Amino acid sequence: MIRITDILDRISVYHPEADLDLVERAYIYTARVHEGQVRLSGEPYLSHPLEVAGLLTELKLDTVSVAAGLLHDTLEDTGATMEDLTQLFGKPVAHIVEGVTKLSLLSFRSSEARQAESIRKMILAMADDIRVILIKLCDRLHNMRTLQFQSEKKQIKIAQETLDIYAPLASRLGIHWIKVELEDIAFKYFFPNQYHEISNQVAKKRDEQQEHVDKIKKVIETMMAEANLPCKVMGRHKHSYGIYQKMMKQGVDFDEVYDILAFRIILDTVPQCYQAVGIIHSVWKPIAKRFKDFIGIPKPNMYQSLHTTVIVPLGERVEIQLRTKKMDRIARDGIAAHWQYKEKGGFDQDTGAVFAWLRKLVEEQKDYKDPDEFMENVRIELFPDEVYLFSPRGDVLALPKGATPVDFAYSIHTEVGNQCTGAKVDGRMVPLKYELKTGQRVEIITSPRHKPSKDWLNFVKTPRARSRVRQHIKAEERKWSLALGREMCEKLLRKHNMSFNKSLKSDEFEAAVQGLGYKTADDLIAGVGYGKVTPLQIVRYLLPKTEITDEKETVVTKSKEPDARKRPKSGILLKGIDNVLVRFAKCCNPLPGDPVVGYITRGQGVTVHRTICHHALDMDPERRIELEWAPETKESYPVRIHVLCDDKMGVLASLTASISQDEANILDAAVNTRIDKRADCYFTISVSGADHLENVIRSVKKIRHVIMVTRVAT
Ligand code: MN
Repeated sequence: MIRITDILDRISVYHPEADLDLVERAYIYTARVHEGQVRLSGEPYLSHPLEVAGLLTELKLDTVSVAAGLLHDTLEDTGATMEDLTQLFGKPVAHIVEGVTKLSLLSFRSSEARQAESIRKMILAMADDIRVILIKLCDRLHNMRTLQFQSEKKQIKIAQETLDIYAPLASRLGIHWIKVELEDIAFKYFFPNQYHEISNQVAKKRDEQQEHVDKIKKVIETMMAEANLPCKVMGRHKHSYGIYQKMMKQGVDFDEVYDILAFRIILDTVPQCYQAVGIIHSVWKPIAKRFKDFIGIPKPNMYQSLHTTVIVPLGERVEIQLRTKKMDRIARDGIAAHWQYKEKGGFDQDTGAVFAWLRKLVEEQKDYKDPDEFMENVRIELFPDEVYLFSPRGDVLALPKGATPVDFAYSIHTEVGNQCTGAKVDGRMVPLKYELKTGQRVEIITSPRHKPSKDWLNFVKTPRARSRVRQHIKAEERKWSLALGREMCEKLLRKHNMSFNKSLKSDEFEAAVQGLGYKTADDLIAGVGYGKVTPLQIVRYLLPKTEITDEKETVVTKSKEPDARKRPKSGILLKGIDNVLVRFAKCCNPLPGDPVVGYITRGQGVTVHRTICHHALDMDPERRIELEWAPETKESYPVRIHVLCDDKMGVLASLTASISQDEANILDAAVNTRIDKRADCYFTISVSGADHLENVIRSVKKIRHVIMVTRVAT
């Protein structure tokens, strides 16, 4: 077990002026709050945060990272709170620990390939400080190193998650050594047979080749010395999982995998690298297409190096990598190199600089066609335009930023979207237009009888949800129009003693379809429902001219345009539907703004009643439909009011003057005097809506001698 003094020593080596006090205090605190806790290995729990902090010093990170590494499990596993951490160690440390804790609390149902990419994005999206990911990777690395203490079932699950999620994350952040070690340990648990076979062969080869490796190394060193190029040469073997992947990808045996042996030459400057590769190519024959210039064109994760494969004297292929010291550091530590101490500038803790580093990767994206590259993941940090959400089963779904539960529902299934009535986010009910945030668990509540609402179009974010809602509205409109059109045609034909069903099959009806410019009989009937054709127009085709009397049509609304967005003239909207015939019930004279309800009336489309109208209450609920008023209606509507007043001279004149002043036309007036010297006045006035009526009533009430004003309901 690493000791805190080792950690402090390491920091003082790479950062002589470091604030070691912060790290020491974090250590004392962690030791205290984790006291008594034991790991599965039997070691005190404290060993885990210490090892994680140790790994962070291998990345040469700043003291904030190391302190946060020591504290990384305190929020989750001890009584420590954010307030405690903020007060004792400052905001940056507390913030990073909180970020690591959030990631630990995520539980993924499976890390299978389909989900892996979204999960990796979610992890990156949730960490607003890259140091959170660095700590998470070191945490995972230590957990992998001690995986033998877990149950076999857990070993396999954790190993798979590591291969699918964490090793690729390490790779994208360019932290090569963590990637390689994560892969090799996970490989051992996930494919034990293949792992043992490959590592045995590598060990065998290593023994056989040691002399050979030393010889080649010597030759390279001599070549470089003769050219006056100071350098360091290292021979190494490819890691087991890398060999395995190559065998799988190329479908070859171990013996057929070339470049298991590789050499690395570290030089001082970039020109020296090119000079050195020229010397090597002039001595050993390079293999075509195996020379790669990642110095001129760095990899997306900023990796820079020259790669070449050459044939050495014994006829064997050997890979050689050439790079500078700085490139070697980035090849090893990747993005972590950014927090490493620089002799001149100290620690560069400016996140803006990190973003500049990342942004550069994004800009270079166009050079890299591989969608699996780092770019896309960086984008969510820089341009946070996506949210990552859990389904109740633990699947991760990616949606555009601002997405709502309705978008979520449609991304699961069209029917889930259509029937969605509400949503729970992390167990709490939210409105359908709630804006979802990364990491939330979303549960959609459905009801089989529910239908999408047109309002949804105002807040849905995904094209999928938008088109599905539109599609549904269109289908509903057509369904209604067809039913209405049919009823209206039936009624008119019955008057002429004709059967609609029989007429439908006649040649005359076909002539009507053609003559009125429709494709099918259904289209024509729906056209009647939409108010584009009248039943009379159809009947004209079905009857001899003489029999047709001039019918008065009961059409109140007629939309000329088939455009569903156009508001009908009458100012009434069926909830979610436009373009259906409506008429207003005489019994209750609904006004715009009144709560209203519609009923399908045989032959007359939808009749609009006030919800309180007793006629409406008596009607068959099956025929009931929801309605709402369209905004800004310019129509006027008749309404009846009753004014009870003292029977005095001039009162009637004041009443009519007041009504006119409020711009309501008086259509009819009647006055009855009573024995108690009072008068009942009834006015039928024309108003633009409920608000207008209210104004009129308010003014009338102010008139002297007026006792009571009421709207006459029916
Ligand atoms: Mn941990």
